[in-house]
Amino acid sequence: MRPSAIVRLPSQLPDIRLGRNFNGPSQMLTRSTKSEDWRGESGLISTFWLRRKGCGSGSLILPQNGAQTVRQDWHERFAETPDVLKSELLQQTVVPVLDLEIGGGEFITMAGPCSVETEFQLMATANHVRRAGARILRGGAFKPRSSPYAFQGHGLEGLKMLARARQESGLAIVTEVMSEGDVPMVAEYADILQIGTRNMENYALLEAAARSGRPILLKRGMVATIADLLRSAQLILNNGNPNVILCERGIRTFETATRNTFDIAAIALLKQISHLPVIADPSHAAGHRDLVPVLARVAVAAGADGLLVEVHPNPDKAWSDGEQSLDFAGFDDMMADLDPWLALRERSLALRALPLRPALEPRSMEAVG
Ligand code: PEP
Ligand code: MN
Repeated sequence: MRPSAIVRLPSQLPDIRLGRNFNGPSQMLTRSTKSEDWRGESGLISTFWLRRKGCGSGSLILPQNGAQTVRQDWHERFAETPDVLKSELLQQTVVPVLDLEIGGGEFITMAGPCSVETEFQLMATANHVRRAGARILRGGAFKPRSSPYAFQGHGLEGLKMLARARQESGLAIVTEVMSEGDVPMVAEYADILQIGTRNMENYALLEAAARSGRPILLKRGMVATIADLLRSAQLILNNGNPNVILCERGIRTFETATRNTFDIAAIALLKQISHLPVIADPSHAAGHRDLVPVLARVAVAAGADGLLVEVHPNPDKAWSDGEQSLDFAGFDDMMADLDPWLALRERSLALRALPLRPALEPRSMEAVG
């Protein structure tokens, strides 16, 4: 069996490590685990103790795929974005976030409210999702809304609440940045910058976010093709940041019963052709909380490296996206439900990693009896 990518745990409670390894394309040739920056904010605790191998819902130790080549026809189709495709040289990208590795050995769940609303809402959610197995806290401080009259987020105050939640829970933070000018501020508080679906092709924003050095969670535009998504990822790489996490969050189709159409094939294809980690967002894909656990399960089966899920202490009272947010019990159930599916995937990956047996000699009918 090939070696598993088991995260190396620090020997003592450490400073928090940040994934600032964006010294240019040469670094894309190696696993991106080198870190040049350490943040020693007193009071911050590591999350490594939260990870208990073999227990804790939603965890999985995956055998590593290593370098692979992509079929020639895929190379031709995505010729514009060669650096995001797997090749003999480009190993699986593993994005370091604090002491976690996304796209490496562990299935990573990012969970939290759509919007940061109140200190109580955020802290209660952070503590709950952490206990249920999440590794990263999500929450919007800057909210892109369809209506200009809807809640637009608390901005800087929201970022500060997220930083306090990290301090209390030890979870890393992912939050959206909506404009180029806000990048330095959001990057100061966030561990991962989220580029939302409406901004996937905002190239000025992508460049500024790339140059911040923070890992980028790049959500697929709701009307973007897979090639469009890869083009935006390539742009981030071209700007010296190899730490890109792709996110499938559903696309617009003629179907209106669900908020978007979850493109499972995109997850499977991205895992096949790209060395970048792929995260699934079943919440925005479904738009209805009842469907979220099923789509999460499907994302596991399709090979996603993790999930981004909306969770709220009281979804019916949420300031945004309540109808697709899980309550705490729903999140617990989803995480518990994922365990056997993750185990199944682990088993099939392990089986695939076994050396091929030599083909059996065909037997004559007499020998068969
Ligand atoms: C969100 O994550 O809350 C969000 C607004 O996502 P998207 O950009 O996918 O709509
Ligand atoms: Mn949302």
